[in-house]
Amino acid sequence: MHNGLAFLDAPSPNFDARALPVTMIVLHYTGMESAAAALDRLRDPAAKVSAHYLVDEDGTIHRLVPEEKRAWHAGRSHWRGIKDVNSASVGIEIVNPGHEHGYRPFPAGQMGALIPLVAEIKARYGITRGNVVGHSDVAPARKQDPGELFNWHALARLRLALPRPTKNLMDPGWPDAGFIMALERFGYDVTDEQAAVVAFQRRFRPEMIDGEIDMECRCLLLALLLPKPQGDE
Ligand SMILES: [Zn+2]
Repeated sequence: MHNGLAFLDAPSPNFDARALPVTMIVLHYTGMESAAAALDRLRDPAAKVSAHYLVDEDGTIHRLVPEEKRAWHAGRSHWRGIKDVNSASVGIEIVNPGHEHGYRPFPAGQMGALIPLVAEIKARYGITRGNVVGHSDVAPARKQDPGELFNWHALARLRLALPRPTKNLMDPGWPDAGFIMALERFGYDVTDEQAAVVAFQRRFRPEMIDGEIDMECRCLLLALLLPKPQGDE
């Protein structure tokens, strides 16, 4: 089933039955000081958290929950009308200390394991690029992971995630309320408007995450919403 991918089984009891078909992949960072600590927590019945896979910094892939089951990784979340994101997604934890413990770039060996894992899962379920998202995209008011150092471009160039638009950028001139409506149309939960703007920037303009709606944000969001040439397929 997983062509060429090797796994270490590290079963977690933290799952239940899916209520929806799989249409998403959610990427996380572990946000803990070590991979061992993260694995312990993701397998602790008392913690009630898990993911389907954990990708260590050296590229080792641990399999925690069978894909047919609902792993508990996204928490209270929302994306493109789906509220039970856990039911609709495969969750992948990427080992990184995160913003609280010394956030650092994701090593090449780790990306080298993550990319074929995402490619294989995406192809097997026919998941669209726009539904390969970060935890911060589906829970903008609560989460920052995998964060602005995550190399979305490496996924996008292989058509595994949406690229940052670079062509035909035009400012639609939306007032801020219009931008928020467009952001909701794109998929974000905009209950906390500024958090949604920050999440959008973290994903599509990581060099300036200030929560301010500016011309570049409007240009990027318009290009992402247009069906061609850079919208979702
Ligand atoms: Zn997360």
